[in-house]
Amino acid sequence: MDLHSLPVRSVSGVTPAKAKELEELGIDSVARLIDYYPFRYEDYRIRDLAEVKDGEKITIQGKLYSEPALQMYGRSKSRMSCKVYVDPLFVTAVLFNRHFLKDRLRPGQEIVLTGKWEAKRLQLTVSEAEFPGGSSSQTGTLQPVYSLTAALSQKWMRKTVKQALTQFGALVPEVLPPQLTDKYGFMARKQAVYRIHHPDDAAEGRQARRRLVYEELFFFQLKMHAFRALQRKKADGVAHEFDNEVVRQFVRALPFKLTDSQKKVIGEILHDLKQPYCMNRLLQGDVGAGKTVVAAAALFASVRAGHQGALMVPTEILAEQHKRSLERLYEPYGIQVGLLTGSLTDRQRRDTINSLHMGLIDVVVGTHALIQDDVMFRNLGLVVTDEQHRFGVNQRSVLRRKGMNPDVLTMTATPIPRTLAITAFGDLDVSTLRELPKGRKPIQTYALGHDKLERVIDFIRKEVSGGRQAYIICPLIEESDKLDVQNAIDVHAQMSHAFPEFRVGLLHGRMPAQEKDDIMNAFKDNDVQVLVSTTVIEVGVDVPNATVMVIYDAVRFGLSQLHQLRGRVGRGEHQSTCILIADPKNETAKERMRVMTETNDGFEIARRDLELRGPGDFFGTKQSGLPEFKLADMMSDFEIMEHARDDAAELVAQSDFWTAADNLPLREFLQREQILDGERLD
Ligand code: ADP
Ligand code: MG
Repeated sequence: MDLHSLPVRSVSGVTPAKAKELEELGIDSVARLIDYYPFRYEDYRIRDLAEVKDGEKITIQGKLYSEPALQMYGRSKSRMSCKVYVDPLFVTAVLFNRHFLKDRLRPGQEIVLTGKWEAKRLQLTVSEAEFPGGSSSQTGTLQPVYSLTAALSQKWMRKTVKQALTQFGALVPEVLPPQLTDKYGFMARKQAVYRIHHPDDAAEGRQARRRLVYEELFFFQLKMHAFRALQRKKADGVAHEFDNEVVRQFVRALPFKLTDSQKKVIGEILHDLKQPYCMNRLLQGDVGAGKTVVAAAALFASVRAGHQGALMVPTEILAEQHKRSLERLYEPYGIQVGLLTGSLTDRQRRDTINSLHMGLIDVVVGTHALIQDDVMFRNLGLVVTDEQHRFGVNQRSVLRRKGMNPDVLTMTATPIPRTLAITAFGDLDVSTLRELPKGRKPIQTYALGHDKLERVIDFIRKEVSGGRQAYIICPLIEESDKLDVQNAIDVHAQMSHAFPEFRVGLLHGRMPAQEKDDIMNAFKDNDVQVLVSTTVIEVGVDVPNATVMVIYDAVRFGLSQLHQLRGRVGRGEHQSTCILIADPKNETAKERMRVMTETNDGFEIARRDLELRGPGDFFGTKQSGLPEFKLADMMSDFEIMEHARDDAAELVAQSDFWTAADNLPLREFLQREQILDGERLD
């Protein structure tokens, strides 16, 4: 019998009304009920009072010694106290609002009381009382505590889960192949689900949990590895045909020599492009590591193979910049580059879309506008997304719906700490740029209080007089009553005044696209020397002559964001400096500034960021793309996750994975998850 298709109402005691409440919790079958694990336990084991600390919640067992003394406050409120002999002590038990128990509290009566212990007064404030011989004895046990809606009580849930285990526990199937249960010495699934609800002691609870956590993570990994394996088998991607030598020529013509990392990564991508399966690769590399040129080489290869390429970016500023640099690189080869952003006129947009459809544009650079419904390609071969964590997935399904199945390369400068990468990107192949181009000098970072602004201005003057350029970043555009932060417009006025000899520009998100473009180009051409900007330049912007980055109210930014902003400088051969302005007395500021001044390594910063913020926040909840686990914790169960990943990969690679009887539960799971269709089951 399949417990997944057995309704919860099959458990006795579950009325239609209760069943509805359970459904609110996502419990719609007996299997789901049994798999609804407690998040902690309540300890009803009898403790020796000598070992109990003041304020602990405990359970004691003893004999009533005195008649209870009752005081009523109005009709329903009361306080009752009585002496209980708990060998060798006399304890005062205090019960609030339980006057209905008065008649049962007779001297000589055996009783079990749970409550909060006040060591000094030898007093227990009782939360639960039990008389031995009662029906549902919890005394002496660890009781599960479930996460519930208000309509369900812990008591009812405990009883119901226990009932489900009694009725159906014997039918809980093993799902892991013996190969794995043997390897780790796991208890059987039957036993584990019983024990996680009702462990005899904490160690047993942990053991049950360990097995179930492994199982959860293993199935998660299995899904991804099986998906990938099937994708490869299906081979319904674009098999690019081109000569590596053509790409080599392109690379040789670049104005600089590629780093070894860049060469290696380009090699990995070219290999994937040629395969008939769909590439799904993540390229991570620190800010300034030179990801753009890797994308350029990959797109070049796709075009040479007779396909079109798309480069998708998060901001219009970045789209414009990438378009310009690709045009420059591709000019000698007659490759046509187009631009598609939200701020094109209707007419421009129509023209571009037509050209794409007819194949007149080889490579298009754009924002989200690229994946709108009316955008059709003639022969899309490769999509690169720049500076997006988790863009890849949705965008891929959008493209698929259009009947396209291009290779996909996702680039990010927020290195994903290993802990998260394994979960978030388990379904991607990963390439990493491990080095920066030669000759880069590490950026020097300082944290200063607001009162040192004069010094900052002097420093900017010195740098700009020497031919360099500077960014000044402010958190907000306009003055706001609520937030006492510097705003770009004010700071722009202030800086224009401070630097009459330079041109000071202003850039923020609410400016019309054309104006943004003009100011960015002016900065690029060094017609503007000091650029006051909001965070619109946070990602991707590349002006190697800029060497000073000043960040106002630096505490308002997270570590990864500060690192991104800082990465706008240090992109050329000149020594660069980042100045973080923050209140030195603010604790958060102190911690963040310490990390920023200590290290330039994006991976290290990402790790610290994750520690400070936790995984949900790290990605920003909206596009986190992180799976939610019932039992497993991504951070603390990381090691189990690594084992699960290796096991899943190994298993899927075994030649008999798709046929062996031991693996049938795994294939059934894959089918339930719609990764596998029916025919492949046996
Ligand atoms: P990011 O990885 O942050 O996107 P970019 O691709 O914008 O970095 O590259 C940063 C700067 O380094 C650009 O000005 C780019 O032209 C330059 N660059 C890239 N690769 C090399 C290299 N191998 N040698 C020297 N400069 C390089
Ligand atoms: Mg970039």
